[in-house]
Amino acid sequence: MKVAIFGTKSYDKEFFKLEGVNTTHELVFFESRLRVKTAPLARGFDAVCVFVNDVVDTETVKMLGEFGIKVIALRCAGFNNVDLIEAEKQGIEVLRVPAYSPYAVAEHTLALILTLNRKTHKAYNRVREGNFSLDRLTGFDIYGKTVGVIGTGKIGQIFARIMKGMGCKVVGFDLYPNKEFEKEGVLKYVTLNELLESSDIISLHCPLTPQTHHIINDHSIWRMKKGAMLINTSRGRLIDTESAIRALSKGHLGYLGIDVYEQEEKLFFRDLSETLIRDEKMLNLMSFPNVLVTGHQAFFTDTALTQIARVTLGNLTAFEKGEELVNRVGSEAIKG
Ligand code: NAD
Repeated sequence: MKVAIFGTKSYDKEFFKLEGVNTTHELVFFESRLRVKTAPLARGFDAVCVFVNDVVDTETVKMLGEFGIKVIALRCAGFNNVDLIEAEKQGIEVLRVPAYSPYAVAEHTLALILTLNRKTHKAYNRVREGNFSLDRLTGFDIYGKTVGVIGTGKIGQIFARIMKGMGCKVVGFDLYPNKEFEKEGVLKYVTLNELLESSDIISLHCPLTPQTHHIINDHSIWRMKKGAMLINTSRGRLIDTESAIRALSKGHLGYLGIDVYEQEEKLFFRDLSETLIRDEKMLNLMSFPNVLVTGHQAFFTDTALTQIARVTLGNLTAFEKGEELVNRVGSEAIKG
């Protein structure tokens, strides 16, 4: 198949080229993200391949349909940026990589927690400047704390096991509680309100859907314990950033660690170090000493990049050969 790979960075090319030698697909790399303006680049291709911040909305999907695109291959797990209903109307299959390395994301979640708690980022800078004082580096023991996991799928379960291993009490909330997992004794399912009210650390691992959009808002954030830590390595729009800023300003939210951000499309995956950043919410967030932001790097391990390229190309091969599409995402995924 002739595949237009949008939004590519050097590492995408490297891993797709390596895995591509085992396939017959013709891979063409575009640095531009897919959106209405860049969709004409897909003319003459059989498939497009996109990542988290490509905008595959109604209008874009309609254009892809007109160009005869047969497949939208997501090289990620989340599919919130694709109009699945329009894709179905246009007869375009949407395929994804359901799990490339859930360990990578769960481990990065732990990295955010430990950094925020023990302030290793601050200690690193201090020591390099010859400042060995411990002032304001106080942390807390994670052992014995209650950790709330919202969304107990692949990543949420691995994260829950890690935190259980650290001696935490783990509680979970999921639309579809996994009773088998609960039986293992790693976590106990509770209601969302119970989780919010009892947890010292809350970590989001549910997908972004109409139901989970701003699941953390003014109402839910104030149900959290004063001084609690909130971590989001899932999708930016799970948190109403303005609510988080209000709760941080009033000292209610103790720590915020985010690898994803509501308006990340305009910032992430780019070097803006020589640019004036005008995103007021991000500037505001970065002014808090108890906020840690990483630029959507939770997935970013060599294991995950290999798996992303391998599964994406495998999905395209399965489509081409008329095989069962095990990684298909239908519109039912957002109707739940
Ligand atoms: P998964 O599908 O295995 O698990 C998601 C879980 O969320 C499921 O158990 C599901 O029942 C639950 N859920 C769905 N709707 C819910 C709701 N309204 N309330 C509570 N729970 C709900 O997905 P996964 O592989 O664990 O990935 C989770 C998310 O992580 C993805 O959707 C993606 O957005 C994000 N992600 C981020 C990165 C990164 O680099 N930061 C990388 C990969 C995935």
